[in-house]
Amino acid sequence: AGTDLLTPSDIRELSSGLGIRPTKTLGQNFVGDGGTVRRIVSHAGVSEGDHVLEIGPGLGSLTLALLEAGAYVSAVEIDPVLAAALPETVNARHDRPERFAVAQFDALKLAHHELAVPPALGYFMPTFLVANLPYNVAVPALLTALELLPSLKVIDVMVQLEVAERLAAPPGSRVYGVPSVKTAWYAEATRGPLISRSVFWPVPNVDSALVRFERRPAPDAERSEVFAIIDAAFSQRRKTLRQALAGWAGSPARAEEILRAADIDPSRRGETLTIEDFVAIAHARV
Ligand code: SAM
Repeated sequence: AGTDLLTPSDIRELSSGLGIRPTKTLGQNFVGDGGTVRRIVSHAGVSEGDHVLEIGPGLGSLTLALLEAGAYVSAVEIDPVLAAALPETVNARHDRPERFAVAQFDALKLAHHELAVPPALGYFMPTFLVANLPYNVAVPALLTALELLPSLKVIDVMVQLEVAERLAAPPGSRVYGVPSVKTAWYAEATRGPLISRSVFWPVPNVDSALVRFERRPAPDAERSEVFAIIDAAFSQRRKTLRQALAGWAGSPARAEEILRAADIDPSRRGETLTIEDFVAIAHARV
């Protein structure tokens, strides 16, 4: 009761009313399926009274499902037309519109924006980030939110299937890479269910999946230092750590010395290391 979710025909009517032509560069694919948005909300575990940040609310499909679950929702949308239209959609379709606020800005510029947390939340910081992320900025948007909003405890987002797999990949697997190990600094990732491309309008040419992050205490190390080691280790995937970290360490011999002090075989490759291994390397450079 109290919430009217968006159907495929609502999506079409709202977009044509606003004169919206969904753009690929902003990853604008809108979900017109109540079952899907409810599934995302329940996968995230959002319930009555939770404070949720949503990145890229679009026409409001997921926003309405979050409100239906009893959440307070603060949304960040880059598109000024969509951002301006959203309060009206929420007013017309949900009986507690005061639980919603939207701010128009780029989620990648969270840091530079005076509304690091948009107004509806007041002094309540969001504990959840739930979103159907714009695909081209999914990873930087996640890293930005994890870094700048320590109040976020659970992040549950829909991303392109390949990205979900990469984010949740274990060390040593083919798709394990910089996004996997950098997000692991902040949180533990688990891949969630697959979402068919058919629930979107327009229909994208890839499938999606949910990926869930649960925050854990950050390692006791200098983040920028550890991230520099990660970038160096993955910049030349085929090289051994001894070679890949030579520039960072000063020489191959020094890299080898640091790696041995960290108890890591210098002939290993970056893609086999856990975040804890990278932290050990940073600690060993003294
Ligand atoms: N949440 C809606 C849904 O599920 O139907 C729309 C999801 S759509 C995949 C991504 C949304 O993110 C679009 O509304 C797009 O305008 C917005 N967006 C794209 N880049 C953004 C950015 N850098 N910051 C904030 N929003 C962005």
